[in-house]
Amino acid sequence: MVIKTKEGASLLIGFIAALCVAAVMIFAHLAWWIILSVSVGIFTVVSLVSLWIMYKYVAYKLKPIYSIVFSRDVHTTEILDELKDKHVEDVSKELTAWADDNDKEIARLKETEKFRKQYLGNVAHELKTPIFNIQGYISTLLDGGLEDELINRKYLERAEKSIDRLINIINDLDTISRLESDMNRMNIQTFDIVALTKEIADQSEMEAAKKEITITVKGADDLPSPFRVAADKHYIGQVLVNLIINSIRYGKKGGSTVIRFRDMMDKILIEVEDNGLGIGKEDIPRVFERFYRTDKGRSREQGGTGLGLAIVKHIIEGHGERISVRSELGTGSTFAFTLKKPQNRDTANK
Ligand code: ADP
Repeated sequence: MVIKTKEGASLLIGFIAALCVAAVMIFAHLAWWIILSVSVGIFTVVSLVSLWIMYKYVAYKLKPIYSIVFSRDVHTTEILDELKDKHVEDVSKELTAWADDNDKEIARLKETEKFRKQYLGNVAHELKTPIFNIQGYISTLLDGGLEDELINRKYLERAEKSIDRLINIINDLDTISRLESDMNRMNIQTFDIVALTKEIADQSEMEAAKKEITITVKGADDLPSPFRVAADKHYIGQVLVNLIINSIRYGKKGGSTVIRFRDMMDKILIEVEDNGLGIGKEDIPRVFERFYRTDKGRSREQGGTGLGLAIVKHIIEGHGERISVRSELGTGSTFAFTLKKPQNRDTANK
């Protein structure tokens, strides 16, 4: 027979004590009613006392553990209350579950800490290059370069370029931290996504012309016009700028960028496609990470901060939507994201 409860154990102890006392009394030839009443008395008292001692003992043993779990000094009576309807086995299961949760939390905190260190390291590294460049140009100018007609203007222009780079990095870092702290504060409004895309494509034309790239906004003609979405116009503008600029930055000379819209019931799919460098299979899952670049030299040379796609992903996910990329090295890339149509059908087609 296995005794699992404190009550069972105390009854057994009481029974054994009563049995021993009864045996002694039988041996001493006492009257049967004396033997019976003393045995019942002994059974009751010993059972109650042993039950009380067991509770106290368990509470005493659990006190340090409970104090750790609740992060405060726990009173024995609180533990006794807690134990009233529980088996010690249940308490043990609860504590194991608590320890498992704690292990998971510690692992998550370690991961966050690792990410924070990596992020800080990356930020410092990104800022270091332009700052050292500026320092170098200014030192050279102060050491006599200022009087040298051949280099003074050139070095000032280079220093200005490094300052522009610093400003770009800081603006992008600022955008990311604002998006992270204000994730739910998208200013949702209804606007025509095709018109906004055309506007941004027009603004990017000068940049595209440098590489003889043509930008085409397609698929809008057969859709109801204006083609409305419910989103944050400012942030979606930033998404389109980043994707279009990337299609030019990593596009080939004389190439093309095509932007398409697809009607998907309650959503609209927007695709930005280029026929440029493309992205290798192993890089595809990582391009949305902060500061991840497939070709660091090219990205920096073209003014990239390595934060553009991380910002894009934050914005799209901040709308509760998704962004994905299909790409093949040497063939080109297509970035696709969805946006919601306005809920009210009347405003949708106004
Ligand atoms: P960057 O400022 O370096 O452009 P992004 O976050 O915008 O940073 O992009 C991350 C990396 O993804 C880029 O450095 C580039 O290697 C790759 N990438 C982004 N867009 C494209 C594209 N359209 N074609 C090929 N590679 C791309």
